[in-house]
Amino acid sequence: MKFDLAIIGAGVIGLSTAFEALSRGWSVVLIERTQAVPQASWAGAGILPAANIDTAVDPFDRLRAISDQLHQQWSQQLYEISGIDNELKKCGTIFVAQSAGEIASLRGQERSWLEEKIEFQVCDPAQIKTHLGNANAETRDSIQHAVFVPGEHQLRNPAHLNALQTSCEKLGGKIIHSCATQFEFSSDQLTRIYADDQPVDANHVCFTCGAWTGELLKDVGVEISMEPVRGQILLYQLDQPLFPVILYEGSQYIVSRTDGYVLVGSTLERAGFDNSTTPEAVERLQGFANKWSNRLNEQSFVRSWAGLRPGTHDGMPYIGRLAEFKNVYIATGHLRSGLHLSTGTAKVLNQLMRDEALDVDLDPFRPSRG
Ligand SMILES: Cc1cc2nc3c(=O)[nH]c(=O)nc-3n(C[C@H](O)[C@H](O)[C@H](O)COP(=O)(O)OP(=O)(O)OC[C@H]3O[C@@H](n4cnc5c(N)ncnc54)[C@H](O)[C@@H]3O)c2cc1C
Repeated sequence: MKFDLAIIGAGVIGLSTAFEALSRGWSVVLIERTQAVPQASWAGAGILPAANIDTAVDPFDRLRAISDQLHQQWSQQLYEISGIDNELKKCGTIFVAQSAGEIASLRGQERSWLEEKIEFQVCDPAQIKTHLGNANAETRDSIQHAVFVPGEHQLRNPAHLNALQTSCEKLGGKIIHSCATQFEFSSDQLTRIYADDQPVDANHVCFTCGAWTGELLKDVGVEISMEPVRGQILLYQLDQPLFPVILYEGSQYIVSRTDGYVLVGSTLERAGFDNSTTPEAVERLQGFANKWSNRLNEQSFVRSWAGLRPGTHDGMPYIGRLAEFKNVYIATGHLRSGLHLSTGTAKVLNQLMRDEALDVDLDPFRPSRG
């Protein structure tokens, strides 16, 4: 059988691209080398920052805003098809600053929110206490500036991935658990992929291999500039949710799930393709957790892990067709925002593959930008 679309890599970007294509009637095969969980997509915290479609003009802002809108729709659709709740929740985020540097950076963010007309509230001590009632009083009292952004959401990554995969299968998508290793070409088309020894034929081919995309593309003679960026994260288990909101201080955060699990993240490290955790980072994240709540102690710490985010040289994702081929596309390099941008990426990529008008100008994301 020749599929309309073959997707290599079933992380959140690959699964979302497949879900959109299947929903619009294409036959789709996904090739994923791991039997277990996908890499970065499973590891992430599931924070979806606020966006505003009415003010989003810049292509990156539009991608964020469209993604944001689609998450609401998809969550419902995925639940109807798969019966799995991805736990999308509008919980809001409180951003806190405890030093002059953190205040300056938060003020900068406030200017962006003002420009984008994204609602935010500067918090007084009583409001801080409402949002962070379970925080250690001493740490809470040392907050010098705090801003609450009500439009921020969270979703539960493993549940979202399960919902996507189950929905893709229910819509007729095929998943092959093998490594894409070799490719065959006919003039300017990629016509056949070998998933280990199994030949797979498709009219369109999409590489969504996360941090490994740059390596695999070398096998089709294409160079893009990518680098894995490791993120480590800790999981705690409490009897009940720690905070009703997401807490952000600088680049570190605490995300409380409704069933009492708490995520404390994360690091940003250039360590090649090594996705192990390190004692130093675990200790640093534990220090951050303990500072905010005594409930996050050794007894409640249950697990740590690391994921490799797909990074690019200029921080922008690659979304588009490879200039070298008529039928090969890539979507990767979403770094810290892959969960968030997955829905919009899937939608626009499907429009591109079908030669339709695009909801987002993809020029800044083109793979040939050097
Ligand atoms: C600690 C941490 C916290 C994060 N928090 C957030 C957050 O709060 N919000 C947010 O939006 N983003 C977050 N991110 C970023 C987000 O997780 C990533 O941007 C996103 O998951 C990238 O998805 P992907 O599908 O491109 O890559 P991946 O999830 O890595 O999927 C790529 C897949 O391709 C497969 N693959 C590779 N090579 C081959 C091959 N040759 N053949 C077959 N399969 C192959 C891999 O096995 C893998 O499953 C976080 C990331 C980390 C690590």
